[in-house]
Amino acid sequence: MNTFQYWKPEIEKMAREDLLALQLQKLKTAVGWALRTEWYGKRLPAAGIKSPDDIKTLADLRRIPIMEKKDLRGSFPYGLLSLPLSDIVRLHASSGTTGIPTTIYLTAADLDRWTDNMARCLYGTGCTKDDVFQNMITYGLFTGGLGLHQGGERVGMMVIPAGAGNTARQFKMMQDYGTTVVHATPGFLLHCESKMREEGIDRSKLKLRKAFAGAEPYSEDTRKRIEQLLKIDVYNSYGISEMNGPSVAFECQAKDGMHLWEDQYIGEIVNPETLEPLPDGEKGELVLTCLCREGSPILRYRTHDITSFYTEPCACGRTHRKLHRFTGRSDDMMIINGVNVFPSQIEEVVMAMPEVGNNYLIVVEKDGSLDRLTVKVEAGPGIFTDDTRQMTALMDKIKHTLSATITINPKVELHESGSLPVSEGKSVRVLDKRPKDM
Ligand code: AMP
Ligand code: ZN
Repeated sequence: MNTFQYWKPEIEKMAREDLLALQLQKLKTAVGWALRTEWYGKRLPAAGIKSPDDIKTLADLRRIPIMEKKDLRGSFPYGLLSLPLSDIVRLHASSGTTGIPTTIYLTAADLDRWTDNMARCLYGTGCTKDDVFQNMITYGLFTGGLGLHQGGERVGMMVIPAGAGNTARQFKMMQDYGTTVVHATPGFLLHCESKMREEGIDRSKLKLRKAFAGAEPYSEDTRKRIEQLLKIDVYNSYGISEMNGPSVAFECQAKDGMHLWEDQYIGEIVNPETLEPLPDGEKGELVLTCLCREGSPILRYRTHDITSFYTEPCACGRTHRKLHRFTGRSDDMMIINGVNVFPSQIEEVVMAMPEVGNNYLIVVEKDGSLDRLTVKVEAGPGIFTDDTRQMTALMDKIKHTLSATITINPKVELHESGSLPVSEGKSVRVLDKRPKDM
């Protein structure tokens, strides 16, 4: 039996009605922040919200227009900034964007709130200051690296900013420093396990006991598989950069659903077609309102992630509602080894190259535990030759141009003009062959 531990028990176990009152108060504050931005400065008054006092109950949330990724891009770079740049101390940007990244800006107070929310998540899984935390995820603009890093430090753990990839180096650090907790994508954790076996690393000599896994969807079976193979506890972590990244929702020691921190975010589940709210417990698209970021306030943001709320309370006693494991997306975004990729990004790159013909196909499949992306393109008329050197050079060029945009390395195949399948109806541009086991 677990002894549950709480970072902010007075908030985490707050009575529901107090929590809703707190949400309302914070929503008003967030609306005040938003009104100062160029984007909301026009749209909120048009919806009849001219001041925070126009928000009288939580139901007034519905009067706020829903925001899409394209709106964020459309307001790039500073249309959603609510304060002068001199008040901003950090920016982050989402992966999976073309020329215009979806960028968020944080003040020192925002950063402090995010760090504390992160510490709440990590402490809630049973971590303490005695843990050694190896953060095996990408640092940089991606929020997963610095987000968990800061939270780990706030808990008091010793954080190793390992970054993603390079299993040999990761294993060396685990052995040298006695790592007890890691953070990675679920795919990388499975990959680590097979590499450990290949390299004859003796698991019993490692001190590993926990992992936080997120950034991409995975099934309960995958969680169990990682837990059994690596003999650790795995906790699901959900984040989206527009909402600060990780710390939006996280599993507690009950390991059954992720608590959405409702004092920091308001979650709605809507019908992805009509955007109308769905009754509690029904599955739909998650729309999130950020209550904890002044630098770039974002209200009612379409995540495109499909899930539902638990209707039963959690064994841990926290009152913040839990989200079920995500089962998919309501758009065509693919997540490849934790990186967001839109088919349109690939199309833009290949179609801009004069050597490439009119047909292409994107194939995503499993290569061991990791994902592999192959982009098959037809050569333009008169381009395809038997000269392998020339063909390899062209494939390399396509590959490098693609990886500069999508930030992952695809495999590129060049096919003769007219040789890729042409569908009679709607073009099939993406073949996702990864098992759908959720
Ligand atoms: P990013 O903005 O780059 O952090 O990517 C956010 C997206 O990653 C989300 O909208 C989800 O589609 C996906 N994602 C993150 N964490 C999880 C998770 N635990 N389970 C499923 N999908 C996730
Ligand atoms: Zn719980």
